[in-house]
Amino acid sequence: MRKLKAEGKVQVYTGNGKGKTTASFGLALRAAGHGLHVFIMQFMNKGDYVEVIAVKGIKNIHVEQCGTGSFILEASEKDKREAMRGFEAAKEAIFSGKYDIVILDEICVAIKYGLVPEDYVIDLIKNKPKNVELVLTGRWATKNIIMKADLVTEMVDVKHPYQKGLGARKGIEY
Ligand code: ATP
Ligand code: MG
Repeated sequence: MRKLKAEGKVQVYTGNGKGKTTASFGLALRAAGHGLHVFIMQFMNKGDYVEVIAVKGIKNIHVEQCGTGSFILEASEKDKREAMRGFEAAKEAIFSGKYDIVILDEICVAIKYGLVPEDYVIDLIKNKPKNVELVLTGRWATKNIIMKADLVTEMVDVKHPYQKGLGARKGIEY
């Protein structure tokens, strides 16, 4: 059952800097702490990312993934089918009346690579129930999505150890 008292907005976390996925998971934790119900769909992911394993045990947060695990720059029909399966599941969650917050992690990347049509996400923004907060993350948010959203944060890559050749660190980057 939904509990959000305020009007649900549309949030976007985009840009090249680090912190988009972790910002959305942080938001989920805060909301769950207040007893709100959160649904997270991670696009373009397969295999349990540790943050996914970590939140699986948390009451009020439901997390799912979609993706083939083999996507490399060009979308196959299988990649598209998997992404659309995830999109439909997320859409169902939005209209189910069960969730206050629905997070579509990396949806902007899925749009960029043609896995999910931008129009479908725009329609979701337009038609979502008023009391559901919708959170979209990923690099390359389109102008149209940015225009339709209520809250947009662009993570700017000012500095990252990666630039000095440091690889991704377990527990920090993944
Ligand atoms: P995070 O998951 O840490 O919040 P993110 O969601 O903003 O990062 P993505 O665009 O999804 O970042 O990037 C995928 C991976 O690249 C993650 O492991 C992330 O930590 C890492 N990453 C993000 N930004 C940078 C950057 N500017 N330089 C190097 N690696 C980065
Ligand atoms: Mg991310």
